[in-house]
Amino acid sequence: MVCDGLVDRCPLRAGVCAATAHAVTVRPVPRILQFDNPADSILLRARAAQVADPAAAATIGARLLGACGPLAAVGLAACQVGEPWAVFAYCVPQFEGFLVNPVRVERARFRNLSEGCLSLEGVAVAARRPTLIAVEACLVENGHLVHVTAVASGFLAQVFDHEIDHLEGISMRERISGEQDVTASRPSASMLHIVRRN
Ligand SMILES: [Zn+2]
Repeated sequence: MVCDGLVDRCPLRAGVCAATAHAVTVRPVPRILQFDNPADSILLRARAAQVADPAAAATIGARLLGACGPLAAVGLAACQVGEPWAVFAYCVPQFEGFLVNPVRVERARFRNLSEGCLSLEGVAVAARRPTLIAVEACLVENGHLVHVTAVASGFLAQVFDHEIDHLEGISMRERISGEQDVTASRPSASMLHIVRRN
């Protein structure tokens, strides 16, 4: 996901992590599949497959997270780089990581928010999004998949909702607010709480 007017807030954009000032490994930037390309849309419209192998999940997650900086992305789903797996990365100020096999269990505090998408180049919309979301997912820790509940609010909730839509084959065009004369709100600051479930 790219957020209109906010893409330059990604702390990895310049290839240097703003939080640590450490150089970020430069990797080839993957081609991003496009909804308007008929061949690409087949994968983008498919429901992502669950990942059971922690090593595979870690590899995909690292690849997605590594691509966020060069792409100036605040979120990136595996299907956008041609991978069929249920993994997405997020990279917003103060928070970055990836979630494996995410499932939304609660969405609240909906607002109309400005939004863009790497798979819909040049398109900006006002999307109806939650600013509070709870997601059950897995993290990769010490070579194992750990079940967690992640609760995000503000801008990060918008990013989570957008990226999980990707994993379910849903485009942001399907989230465009139906209200007339709506002025999209700016997203608010992000919060994230992650709790283990086992
Ligand atoms: Zn997107």
